[in-house]
Amino acid sequence: MDQDIKEKEFEKAEHVVLTSHKTQIYNNSIPINWGVKDPLIRGPIIATTSCENKRNAIGTHSGSYTVYRALSIANKTYPKSHVPDLKNTHATTEIGPFNSWFTPEKIVSIDPWGAQVQRVFKDHIEDGYDIRPTIAVTQARLQIPELAQAISAGRLVPDGKVILENGDVNVTKVAFEPVWYLPGIAKRIGVEEGVLRKILFKETGGMFPELVTRPDLKVLLPPIGSSTAYIFGDVRDLANPDVELSCRVHDECNGSDVFGSDICTCRPYLTYGIEHAAKTAQKGGVGLVVYFRKEGRALGEVTKFLVYNARKRQKGGDSAANYFYRTECVAGVEDARFQELMPDILHYFGIQKIHKLHSMSNMKYDAIVSSGIEVVNRISIPDELIPEDALVEIEAKKAAGYFTQGEIKTKHALESVQGRELSEERQV
Ligand SMILES: [Zn+2]
Repeated sequence: MDQDIKEKEFEKAEHVVLTSHKTQIYNNSIPINWGVKDPLIRGPIIATTSCENKRNAIGTHSGSYTVYRALSIANKTYPKSHVPDLKNTHATTEIGPFNSWFTPEKIVSIDPWGAQVQRVFKDHIEDGYDIRPTIAVTQARLQIPELAQAISAGRLVPDGKVILENGDVNVTKVAFEPVWYLPGIAKRIGVEEGVLRKILFKETGGMFPELVTRPDLKVLLPPIGSSTAYIFGDVRDLANPDVELSCRVHDECNGSDVFGSDICTCRPYLTYGIEHAAKTAQKGGVGLVVYFRKEGRALGEVTKFLVYNARKRQKGGDSAANYFYRTECVAGVEDARFQELMPDILHYFGIQKIHKLHSMSNMKYDAIVSSGIEVVNRISIPDELIPEDALVEIEAKKAAGYFTQGEIKTKHALESVQGRELSEERQV
């Protein structure tokens, strides 16, 4: 880009317009009527910063990557007023609309129209509104070592359709950015909207003043991690309660999921969920694995590693009896994932019934069932897939009431379920 234009862009970025008053900015915005059936009456979510007087939401796109974009703008490598060319970006499979999209407050943490803005809001876009998709749908093939092992062991058989002869697995994948309808989020977690807005403002160090100054703006695009859904088989079958559905809702655990760290069962649960999803699709059913970026029970990886050390250094060593206690000591809570928001993605796909839910977590199960989805069977991971050091986690979870098809240990027996000591982990 021309240097002069770059300089002008930067000056524009330096000029700050306060957003507290309606007359200052957002004076040209389209209202949002959350949950209304006609998308044109519902209105587009306009959260881009390229045309400030047309915005109708707090925050902006790309979740946590918002901050990286700001850095690119600051070092003048990203033109602030860039408007994406959305040609050919539309979804490879049309999803919805479903009744769940229009049932009041069934979906409050994503925009169900997020994958269709290119088509639904075409006229607005042509009129110069910078409206961006918050959901993207594409096709992919997966190559996963555990699935190759499942094929070698005869548990999976290539069919040339879901699983190809070379072991690749065909999937549809859907990426979601968070779009929060604040009155619905408040209701879901059981607080007053005003209280929620005030706490969000304070606890982010005052990141979005409109949370407290502009109660008329009801939608927030928070700077948090996104979610991804992988679908095995025909996406449209997810909404058909008569088609068998195998489902794993998985919360991120980078250490295990990506690096194979053996202190927990996350990757085995994930790959078993994928194996079962593919197998179900091969039998004429459909499989769904949803991946939420909620690392370390949404407490973050630093907290998680601190807890590992605290667990392993405590008197008597790392035992299943003290598993949850050490997390609470370090983080203040055992868990901050708020599974109440998780079923939104299931409702986006129109899911009414899950035949096989792969999860030990009662919080996940309860959130799904109380959102109106029937769960027929719950599946826990086969014992042979649990790494030895992860027995501490699995036995502690079972004793705490997590779902299991196996036996539950007594308190005394839990004390004898021990993980490796830190000294054993160090390799010189
Ligand atoms: Zn894990």
